[in-house]
Amino acid sequence: MHQELRSFFDCSMDDDHTFELEDYGSVVARWCGGCGDHGVLNAVKRLMRDEQLPAERTVFVSGIGCSSRFPHYLDTYGFHGIHGRALPIATGIKLSRPDLDVFVVMGDGDCCSIGAGHWLHATRYNIDMTALMLDNAIYGLTKNQTSPTTPQGYKTNTQPRGSWLPALNPLTTSLGVTNVSFVAQTADWVPAHLFETLQAAHRHRGFAFVRILQRCPKFTLPLFAQQARTPDLHELLVHPDGVNVPTLEKIYKRRIEHDPSDLDRARVLAEDPDRIRLGVFYRNENRQRYDDIRRLPSYTAAQNIARLDAELDRYAV
Ligand code: SF4
Ligand code: MG
Repeated sequence: MHQELRSFFDCSMDDDHTFELEDYGSVVARWCGGCGDHGVLNAVKRLMRDEQLPAERTVFVSGIGCSSRFPHYLDTYGFHGIHGRALPIATGIKLSRPDLDVFVVMGDGDCCSIGAGHWLHATRYNIDMTALMLDNAIYGLTKNQTSPTTPQGYKTNTQPRGSWLPALNPLTTSLGVTNVSFVAQTADWVPAHLFETLQAAHRHRGFAFVRILQRCPKFTLPLFAQQARTPDLHELLVHPDGVNVPTLEKIYKRRIEHDPSDLDRARVLAEDPDRIRLGVFYRNENRQRYDDIRRLPSYTAAQNIARLDAELDRYAV
């Protein structure tokens, strides 16, 4: 058995290797046609290629939901977890292997409902990872059930007369948590902005939370169809420390200068339900990080194997 473990720890690409998009996976994703998840997957692969992330040093962790199929479509390490538990799994991975680049992919139900407690504490712990919340405002995998971000009045299988309550706002929720360090919003239908936002989140040192507005043509088509066709319904937050995409200037003309270090203004900007605001709301790299404070000893591959050997020997008969 130790042979397999050795290959696991020793695998690494030649230093001269240049990663291309195909290195990160070529499986055809099985999401519905027109689903926004396809665009997010493409942007993530492009990010990995542009940042030359070695697949064997990268982990994608997900919970349960349509978007949680993400790890299956990438040739990195992956962990398709259980509902709402992607963040504690990712926390364990990052604390025991700080050398790995950890991404978390969650849906709105996964993150804001069953995983809500983990979400708040992951924000407060501020461990270095990139968390993507793909928000289609519905439980899609379980076929059209009201989620915390479903707009009030929107009819679903579980609330056929319309969702009873106002939708939870994931941005203001995140921005209200002690020790929050990075909050951004983007949309699957603005690929250039999506890519730049993912890049800013990935480069952030700390817990980077990105809400990605995601089209679900199967169950919430009316919610996003009009927005996706109407650039004037959007406002881009721009600042040298945020996300700037000059190629979008001619199409997305509504812009707000916003310094992402201003937490109070970030909260005000995130509150307005009548505007789709895309950009970095808040960024602060001086927040405390649990992975810095409680750094575990780092072991070499040989030491890890020796530790596992010793652990297994305890059960040898
Ligand atoms: Fe995408 Fe919606 Fe289909 Fe799920 S149900 S794969 S979110 S379009
Ligand atoms: Mg959803």
